[in-house]
Amino acid sequence: MNKIYSYQLAGKNKVSLSDYDPDDTGKFHSKAQALRDLAKHQEKLFELQELLYADASRALLVVLQGMDAAGKDGTIRHIFTGVNPQGCQVTSFKVPSPEELQHDFLWRVHRAVPARGMIGIFNRSHYEDVLVVRVHQNLSRKELANRFDEINAFEEMLVRNGVIILKFFLHISQEEQKTRLESRLHQRTKYWKVSPSDLAERQYWDDYLEAYEDVFRYSSSKDAPWYIIPANKKWYRNVAISQILVDALAALKLKYPKPKFKIARLKVE
Ligand code: ATP
Ligand code: MG
Repeated sequence: MNKIYSYQLAGKNKVSLSDYDPDDTGKFHSKAQALRDLAKHQEKLFELQELLYADASRALLVVLQGMDAAGKDGTIRHIFTGVNPQGCQVTSFKVPSPEELQHDFLWRVHRAVPARGMIGIFNRSHYEDVLVVRVHQNLSRKELANRFDEINAFEEMLVRNGVIILKFFLHISQEEQKTRLESRLHQRTKYWKVSPSDLAERQYWDDYLEAYEDVFRYSSSKDAPWYIIPANKKWYRNVAISQILVDALAALKLKYPKPKFKIARLKVE
C-alpha cells in the first residue's frame, strides 16, 4: 500500500495528532524527486478534469483545512496549476457576513458545492463551524454533536448525488508555523498576508488540536475521508495530495460520452 493511504481516516475512531509526523516525506528522499512526480500528477489532473467535465455526472469536492500558515493557498496554487480554470472553482470561507449569519451554517457552503462536471476547492469550509467557532464561542457539547450530525448528513447527501469528497488537514508543527509567520514579517511581498489575529491564535494551538481531533473522530467516513497530510515540507504536501486526487478521479473510470450522432455522416462544409 502506498504510504499516503496510511494518512487516511475512514471510520469513527479516536485520533491523536501526535501519532502523525508533520515532517514525514513518505517514499521521497528529495524535493527534486517529489517535483518530478508532482509534474506528472498535474498532467494527469488536466486529463482527468477534462473527462470529469465531459462526462458531467460527477463532481469533486476538495476540502482544505489547517492551522494558519499551514499552506492552503500554496497547495491550491501548486496542484491546480495547469487545470482548465473553466472546470475548477475555489471558494474561500471567511468570517461569515451578517447575511450568512442569519442562516444555518451550511447555507453558504451548499451554494458553493461544485456542480456536476466541476472540481470545487474549499479553502477553509463548514468545518470552521466546529473549529474556530468551538474555540471562541464555547459551543455546548450538545450543539457540537448536532453540528457533526448535520455535517455528516450533508456530506452523505452530496455523496449520494455524485460528489466525491476528499478532506485534507495540512499538518504542520507549531515550530514550523512560527517560522512561516515570522518569515511573513520579513518579506515585503508577504506583508499583505500578515494578520495580527494569526499571531494571537497561536495561543489557542492546543484548543485547535483538540477540536481537530474531534473533527477527525466524528466526521471521517469511507465516502468522505479525512487525510492528515504531513505538511512541514511543502513539496511533500503537494505530491501527496495530488496523488490522492489523481487516484480518486482515475478510480471513477469515466469515459468520454458517446456521440449522439453518426459522426461519420457529419461533414464540415
Ligand atoms: P491565510 O492563511 O492566507 O491567512 P485565511 O484562510 O486565514 O488565509 P483570512 O482572511 O486570514 O484567510 O481568515 C479567514 C478567517 O475567517 C479565519 O480566521 C477563519 O477562522 C475565519 N472563519 C472562517 N469561517 C468561519 C466561521 N464559520 N465562523 C467564524 N470564523 C470563520
Ligand atoms: Mg489568516
